[in-house]
Amino acid sequence: MTTRRPLVMIPGPVEISPAVRDAFAVPPPGHLAPDVIEAFGSALALMRRVWLAPASAQPFVVPGSGTTAMEMAVANLIEPGDAAVVVNTGYFSDRMVEMLKRAGADVVDLTAVPGEVPNASRAEGAFDDFARAGRKVKALFATHVDTSTGALCDPRPLAALARGRGVLSVFDGVCATAAERFEMEAWGADVYLTASQKAIGLPPGLALMVASARALEARDARKAPPPLVSDWHAWRPVMQAYEARKPAYFATPPTNLILALPVGLTEIAAGGMDSRFALHERGARALSAAWSALGLHIVPTREQNAAHTLSALRYPVGVDASLVARIAERGVIVAGGLHPAIRSEYFRVGHMGYALTRTDFLMRCVEAVAGGLASFGTPVDAEGAVTAMLAVLQNEVAS
Ligand code: PMP
Repeated sequence: MTTRRPLVMIPGPVEISPAVRDAFAVPPPGHLAPDVIEAFGSALALMRRVWLAPASAQPFVVPGSGTTAMEMAVANLIEPGDAAVVVNTGYFSDRMVEMLKRAGADVVDLTAVPGEVPNASRAEGAFDDFARAGRKVKALFATHVDTSTGALCDPRPLAALARGRGVLSVFDGVCATAAERFEMEAWGADVYLTASQKAIGLPPGLALMVASARALEARDARKAPPPLVSDWHAWRPVMQAYEARKPAYFATPPTNLILALPVGLTEIAAGGMDSRFALHERGARALSAAWSALGLHIVPTREQNAAHTLSALRYPVGVDASLVARIAERGVIVAGGLHPAIRSEYFRVGHMGYALTRTDFLMRCVEAVAGGLASFGTPVDAEGAVTAMLAVLQNEVAS
């Protein structure tokens, strides 16, 4: 029996770095304290670097979670009667559809079987259908990584399509931002949103998003304002003030998290974003080698659709959902299934941020999964799985 704190390997919240923890583990400062103003201002500038966003784009940091950020994007961009298209990859795309409907949008929901990603030509077809009816689509929505299936969507062709047709593009990056490649400026995307507890590497509590100049103009052009707490017009002056290192107030931010935010973002941006994306690609490849050695198969139907931030793994024959608890008994917390259509058929392991810099964490994780599988009486090569993982990590570090 282990008395160690369990290792958290769910797709968020994730393990965080000691520097981030030290930054927030202080008595709560006021929101107008000089160190909070400095941290807030530098975090906003760092967000443009992590998002690969242009100087004209506006970063927002507000209290809340990923759902808050999703709601904020919808609230600012969508008015009743607007046409919207959703590239739906699962549970969180469904949530986006629900938000859009509640905002009064006419939504075309492009669905796919779990693990598949609708391609850009289907979105184009939906744009054409609206055009034939004399209507222009206001915004296209997609989930960069759907956490319920581990499916990775390529935002690039979607952003290009939207840009070409004068449509706004909004990407939910809650399980992707700062881990999966995303080039906001080069790709011409309009909103990219996330939350602090995933690859950003902080505890939960902050909703983060960057909005393009076009997205901000769309808010300016609204007939009626959105609810005050979601309104970019209420928050933007506060962001601008902090970035100019001036005190400002609209609603109290979680000040401890603000202190930690530039620390986390600096760790992410330190080696450049290419190396950050490569860290996640390498980690995913290494774990994938381990899962193969354990005889596990992923939910995404194509290798190029597999996220680098989490593994959605089908239970092998003879193994059921009690595997998650059996892995927990071995000191590692993983997540069960989430997509309603296949919930009892798979489990999920998150691999984002700090954990990827800790080979010991990855080894503990693979060993616990192997031990959990072995407890069902299935023959399992735990050592082979760890060796396969290390071979990828060591090879790629050396090359
Ligand atoms: N979108 C995606 C892709 C997510 O993974 C999550 C959280 N798992 C959310 C949205 C919602 O975020 P939160 O739970 O922080 O509200």
